[in-house]
Amino acid sequence: MGLVVGVWCRHRYRARMLQVDGLTKRYGELLALDDVSLTVRRGEIVGFLGPNGAGKTTTMRAIMQLVAMDRGTVTWDGRPVDLATRRRFGYMPAERGMYARMRVRDHLVYYGRLSGRSASTAAASTDRWLERLGLTGRADDEIQTLSSGNQQRVQFALAMLDEPDLLVLDEPFAGLDPIAVDTLSDLLREEVARGTALLLSSHQLDLVAEVCSGVVIVDDGRVVLRGEVSELRSASTSRVVAVEFATVTPWDTAHGRVESDDGRRYRVHVAVDTDPEVVIAEARARGDVIGYGFSPPDLSEIFLAAVGRDHMEPAVVGGEVR
Ligand code: ATP
Repeated sequence: MGLVVGVWCRHRYRARMLQVDGLTKRYGELLALDDVSLTVRRGEIVGFLGPNGAGKTTTMRAIMQLVAMDRGTVTWDGRPVDLATRRRFGYMPAERGMYARMRVRDHLVYYGRLSGRSASTAAASTDRWLERLGLTGRADDEIQTLSSGNQQRVQFALAMLDEPDLLVLDEPFAGLDPIAVDTLSDLLREEVARGTALLLSSHQLDLVAEVCSGVVIVDDGRVVLRGEVSELRSASTSRVVAVEFATVTPWDTAHGRVESDDGRRYRVHVAVDTDPEVVIAEARARGDVIGYGFSPPDLSEIFLAAVGRDHMEPAVVGGEVR
């Protein structure tokens, strides 16, 4: 019996996920989305990355049923998203639309009631989120008197009010100070540990690498790369030899493409089978090396390769639609 229940639970747990298949959207001549597919499972944070205009917001709006697609489907738990399911989704749009003159607490309670909660449940949820986000002291202030970072926290609280099954956050870290970024990252991890599925877009790739397990990268409306961050890094056909000299030291090695902003710290992009010792020995022959390292490219380098803004070969991991 235990085994049966275990298998059933696992099946249920796995089945509860967002599945986006073949989204295609044209605005006049522009093909904004071209066959975009992705999956976000419960308990998973997926980073949705791409240059400006790549199609992230359009995809997120399609998931939230805010824009009609020419083709493609969005399902949750294997079923098309109806109004009841949609209510279990929390969304933080990139353009933060709130009533400037409304008081913070009133605004949250109002939205809680709009999504079908009783006045007392909406108020309780509002107070809980105000406290979690450090906004209790601002509850009676008008939205317009809040700093943009605090307005962003209110917008985040709006997405969280109903303890959503799926969270879709468009640029949640934009404009936040480092302390607020840390607070938000911790909150997101807690929510996901509770079983929420989370899709977030961001241009802050260091943060994405820290917070997300998987990424989907889009460019010109098409998915160009997807996978677990660690797998994408290790599967890359290039490696980085980092060298730090004590003083500014000219170094133009033939072992790979060289990057240096200050002439003292270098990153040399080499082929995966290059022996780093040889590169480091060459550096030592040039000057006083005080530090060095050998690592896979970081997420921003993977990203630049994937969107064709770099000379690296993009890593390709599996063929699974995630
Ligand atoms: P960013 O990182 O700048 O927010 P994004 O990846 O979110 O970009 P989208 O906002 O999804 O990109 O836009 C994708 C493309 O679709 C862009 O070229 C954009 O100009 C176009 N687009 C989006 N909405 C509309 C619209 N309502 N009418 C016409 N074109 C649109």
